[in-house]
Amino acid sequence: MKDENCIFCKLAGGDIPTATLYEDEEFRVILDANPASKGHALIIPKEHYANLYELDDEVAGKAMILAKKMIKKMTRALGCDGYNVVQNNGETAGQTVFHFHMHLIPRYEGDNVGL
Ligand code: 5GP
Ligand code: ZN
Repeated sequence: MKDENCIFCKLAGGDIPTATLYEDEEFRVILDANPASKGHALIIPKEHYANLYELDDEVAGKAMILAKKMIKKMTRALGCDGYNVVQNNGETAGQTVFHFHMHLIPRYEGDNVGL
């Protein structure tokens, strides 16, 4: 299901063009518009799930496997030293877009990312 008022449905579905690092039938991986560090990416399922609790179990498994693959690829490309994988649920927890997504945040020695 898609939500026609949801920006991530539009981005993931390709209705709004965006720099894409990876795409398959179920996911799109894009660069965050307001990056916490160089290469900050978002894994977004093409189907609309508001948060982790709503996420389909099979999609959840695939999202985690994709996170592993992306981190390997991006570490080689970016030369980063570590990664934070962040996933916010609920306004109180800092969620601002209510379509499930995972943040992949590359970390660099001596960087100043406040998480
Ligand atoms: P949340 O706070 O919900 O976990 O994360 C939402 C993230 O989506 C934020 O880091 C924000 O910068 C990013 N974001 C919001 N709107 C857009 C957009 O239109 N394009 C892209 N590439 N990123 C977006
Ligand atoms: Zn959506």
